[in-house]
Amino acid sequence: MSLLTVESLNKSFGGVRAVDDVSFELPKGHMMALLGPNGAGKSTCFNMLNGQLVPSSGSIRMEGEELIGKRPRDIWRLGVGRTFQIAAVFNSMSVVENVQMALFSHQRRLLRFFKPLHRYDREPALELLRLVGIEQYADKPCSTLAYGDVKRVELAIAMAHGPRLLLMDEPCAGMAPHERNGLMALTRRLVDEQGISVLFTEHSMDVVFSFADSMLVLARGKLIAAGDGNHIRHHPKVKEVYFGS
Ligand code: ADP
Ligand code: MG
Repeated sequence: MSLLTVESLNKSFGGVRAVDDVSFELPKGHMMALLGPNGAGKSTCFNMLNGQLVPSSGSIRMEGEELIGKRPRDIWRLGVGRTFQIAAVFNSMSVVENVQMALFSHQRRLLRFFKPLHRYDREPALELLRLVGIEQYADKPCSTLAYGDVKRVELAIAMAHGPRLLLMDEPCAGMAPHERNGLMALTRRLVDEQGISVLFTEHSMDVVFSFADSMLVLARGKLIAAGDGNHIRHHPKVKEVYFGS
């Protein structure tokens, strides 16, 4: 069974059909890229998947459960995590504190009556830092980290919430090429070892073809192609959109 089933998803802003009749399935343990030129509708799709935007029509089901109509934080609790184009961390706090806080907020509903924040152990947070390869920076303020490492903190925070699906909108924006490959290799490992599914957007075709299992290509809100790297690379409509031929 697919983790996510999207059917006939639409979003209009006034007269603009930002997302136009988009349908796709995302399997479990799968890394899928959402491609398309600027303005194609990628971010609008993401914003609907995590409940920030209400679709004009359509259906988004996670393992059979309809997400449309649920509040963003309920969708997040169901296991839809997200990272942002600009990493969202608390700069003045240490790396490990950022992750401890995420763990705390994830479990607060269950634990708030008997487990105050200062008891929120370091060890589970360090474990997550180990997972993303930055345990050595645990006690540094986030503000002192290289940008590529801040993105790793963000990933550890996202993992603290136990996602089943992680949405990553341009995770590599502003990164140097070696950092980019590192972050994507790490994401790939989370998919393979932790069994999560990832949907991400990315401009570099090289990155996408190296790391994604499959791709969706949007143009002017419409899904023009879907499939693996080979299929996408040779798809006439994709060539037209990207290379004008
Ligand atoms: P992408 O992320 O692929 O660059 P977006 O999803 O941001 O594309 O935008 C798709 C289209 O929807 C664009 O034409 C954009 O101008 C329009 N759009 C996006 N958000 C809004 C909004 N809040 N209000 C009006 N138009 C919007
Ligand atoms: Mg965008």
